[in-house]
Amino acid sequence: MIEADRMRVSVIGTGYLGATTAACLAEMGFEVLGVDVDEAKIDMLRSGRVPFYEPGLDELLTAKLATGRLRFTTSFTEAAEFADLHLICVGTPQRDDSGAADLRYVNSAVDQLAPHLTRPSVVVGRSTVPVGTAATLAARLAALAPVGEEAELGWSPEFLREGFGVKDTLHPNRIVIGTDSPRVEKAVRALWQQQIDDGAPFLVTDLQTAELVKVAANAFLATKISFINAMAEVSEVAGADVIQLAEALSYDDRIGGKFLGPGLGFGGGCLPKDIRAFMARADELGVEPALSFLREVDAINQRRRARTIDIARQLIGGSFAGRTVTALGAAFKPNSDDIRDSPALDVASTIASLGAQVTVYDPAALERAREAHPELNYADSMLAAARGADVMLLLTEWAEFREANPDELAEVVAGKRIVDGRNALDPTYWRASGWTYRALGRQ
Ligand code: NAD
Repeated sequence: MIEADRMRVSVIGTGYLGATTAACLAEMGFEVLGVDVDEAKIDMLRSGRVPFYEPGLDELLTAKLATGRLRFTTSFTEAAEFADLHLICVGTPQRDDSGAADLRYVNSAVDQLAPHLTRPSVVVGRSTVPVGTAATLAARLAALAPVGEEAELGWSPEFLREGFGVKDTLHPNRIVIGTDSPRVEKAVRALWQQQIDDGAPFLVTDLQTAELVKVAANAFLATKISFINAMAEVSEVAGADVIQLAEALSYDDRIGGKFLGPGLGFGGGCLPKDIRAFMARADELGVEPALSFLREVDAINQRRRARTIDIARQLIGGSFAGRTVTALGAAFKPNSDDIRDSPALDVASTIASLGAQVTVYDPAALERAREAHPELNYADSMLAAARGADVMLLLTEWAEFREANPDELAEVVAGKRIVDGRNALDPTYWRASGWTYRALGRQ
C-alpha cells in the first residue's frame, strides 16, 4: 500500500454522494479519479458543472479540477491502474417490484472493476446496502480479480446530508469501517487521518455491523419524524398544538429537538427506500417482527401527504375541480434539487389528478420537476406561481418561502388561503394580513 499522503483514490459512481466525496477528497489533498457509467454526467463534471444542486460544490469542483488532483473517467481500466483505494458510491434504489434494495449497480461496479485489479487493492463500499451484501461482494471481488484475495473489500457507510454534503464530508461526525483486514483499516484510517486528528470518532466493526449502522440510523430518524407526526394526528383531533408539544418535548435531553418538526413528513432518495429495504431484509432473515413498527412509520408518513391535501380541499369548499392551486416547493427538502420520492411533488400531482390547475415554484428543482411531472404547470418565481391561486400550499421549507411577504402575495392570489405543510410560517403574521392559515397538527 502506498503511503497516505500519496494515496490515490477512485470514486465509483458520481451522483450526489460520489461527486461530493470526490471533490472533498481532492480538497483534502488526495489524487482522485471519479468514475461513472453515465458519459453525459462525466462530461459535465469534467467541464466543472455539478449535475445537481449542492451548495458550495460547484466552486469546489472547479477549484479542484484546476489543480489537476481531480479528474473524471468512464474507464474502469484507468481507475484500476490509477487508484490504491476504490470507493463504491453507486445508487441502491428501491426495486420496482418490491420494497427491497436494487443491488444491480453495486454488483456491476464490482464486476466492472475487479477484472482490472492486477495489483493488491482495497475496495470500500460507501453506498447504503442491506446487511449481508458486503460479504457477498467481498467474495465476488476476490473471485473476479486477477489478484484474488489481494483485492479486499470493506464497508464504510456514508452519513452526509444533501444540502450540507461538502461540510458533512469534510467534517464527518463519525467514521465507521466494517472490516477484519488490517490493510483495509489502514487505508480508511489514512483517508480520514485529518478528521480523526480533529476528533472524529473512528469505529472499526465487522462488515454486518457497519452495514447496519447506516440503515439503523435512517430507521431511527424516520421513526422520530413519524413519531411527532403521529402526535400531530392526535393533536388535530384532540384540540392540541403539536408545535408547542414538540417544543416542550425538545427540552428533554433524552429526546432532543432535532428531527422533531411536524409536517408533511420525509421523502428523498434515502429515508423512504432505506426503511423499506430494511424491512424487506428483515423479512428475508426471518426477523420481520423486529421491524414491523417501520411499516407504521412509513404509513404515518404517507398519511401526512393525504392530510395536507384534505386540508387544502376543505379550504376551497370540498373539491379541486376547476380550481387554481399553487405549490411552493418541489424538492424533497430545502437546499437540494433532489425530487426522488418528494412529498411536495406527490401532493402537487395528486391535487392535479383531482382536477386542479397546479402551478409549482421551487428555487432549485424546477428543471427536474418539469421533466418528471409534465402534468403540472411551472413558474419562475413565487409571485408568478401565486397568480390567481384559490389556495397556496407550502410544501418544501425553503428560506425564500419562510420569508414570503403575505401582503405582496395577497395582491395576486384569487383567495387568501394557505396550507403550511411544513409549519414554517408564523400564523399570527399571516392571519394579521387577512389570510386563512392552516397547518398540520394545529388548530
Ligand atoms: P445517485 O443516483 O445520485 O448516484 C449514483 C451514481 O452511480 C449515478 O451517477 C450512476 O450513473 C452511477 N452508477 C450506477 N452504476 C454504476 C457502475 N456500475 N459504475 C459506476 N457508476 C455507476 O445516488 P446517490 O444519492 O449518490 O446515492 C448513492 C448511494 O449512497 C446510495 O446507496 C444511497 O443510499 C447512499 N447515500 C446517499 C446519500 C445522499 O445524501 N444522497 C447519503 C448517504 C448515503
